[in-house]
Amino acid sequence: MSDQQLVIRDLRVAPIADPTRDILKGIDLTVGQGEVHAIMGPNGSGKTTLAYALMGHPAYVITGGEVRWKGRNILELSADKRARLGLFLAFQYPTAIPGLSVASFVRSALNARRAGLDRTTEIDPTDPIRGGISMGDFRRKMREKMALLKMDEAFAARYVNDGFSGGEKKRLEMLQMAVLEPEMAILDETDSGLDIDALRIVAEGVNAMLNPNMGVLLITHYQRLLNYITPDFVHVLAMGRIVKTGGRELALQLEESGYGPVLRAAGLDIAVPDDALRVPVEPAEAAR
Ligand code: ADP
Ligand code: MG
Repeated sequence: MSDQQLVIRDLRVAPIADPTRDILKGIDLTVGQGEVHAIMGPNGSGKTTLAYALMGHPAYVITGGEVRWKGRNILELSADKRARLGLFLAFQYPTAIPGLSVASFVRSALNARRAGLDRTTEIDPTDPIRGGISMGDFRRKMREKMALLKMDEAFAARYVNDGFSGGEKKRLEMLQMAVLEPEMAILDETDSGLDIDALRIVAEGVNAMLNPNMGVLLITHYQRLLNYITPDFVHVLAMGRIVKTGGRELALQLEESGYGPVLRAAGLDIAVPDDALRVPVEPAEAAR
């Protein structure tokens, strides 16, 4: 088994408030290099819980299973160690940091990533001659990535998320991803606060960065996102389990018929009418 795969095995997750009630009831999923996997599912199926568990969110406890990446169970590592191992975890609710520029923020993140998992005394990420990135190299990299993402250079001087629109927050997320050059990107595009522009920004960002060395796990509520980012695999998550896996045609089938037929075929006892299991195509145009 290659080390460059994200391997989720029998992952079980409960809320910290009620650790005996598993939300995720045994997730098995392998994301290889160069593959794009999408996870879709009805409301309340556990999509956000999966994203948060992978990110190490303190509101959740791992009650079973493991997530292996580069020979380690990442669930035992702090979020910053996960990042230093080449995982990119997009945070859904980024906080504003007035006084800290986007450029300084991204540079610290890059230097932390370059320091590697086990910091040694020979590497001082703040010092260009001891492993840190020089200002010149950093500026070049920022310029290159901002051009790739078609971003205005003035963005680098703004304060982190300070007064940012939903779309601008997404741009910063994509810029971080571009500069950090992760080998595995995990993105959660939830329903709240995401307008259609933001969706496009994410799609364009991910597409600009796709390469054979990067895997992507894209958790999404919207079929439309998958018109912009073509997934290699689509998984349906329902009641804490993956009940079906297919190719991109599965997303189109879900858009057409909703989750009802797939859930019934999986033998799930669904108490709501099929109408309640339609797939939202895209967020409201005016939701900003
Ligand atoms: P989705 O993102 O697919 O809509 P979630 O992962 O947000 O689903 O939620 C799955 C289920 O777990 C829901 O029933 C939700 O109420 C419950 N849940 C999620 N997070 C928590 C939490 N922090 N505490 C208690 N219950 C939670
Ligand atoms: Mg959710």
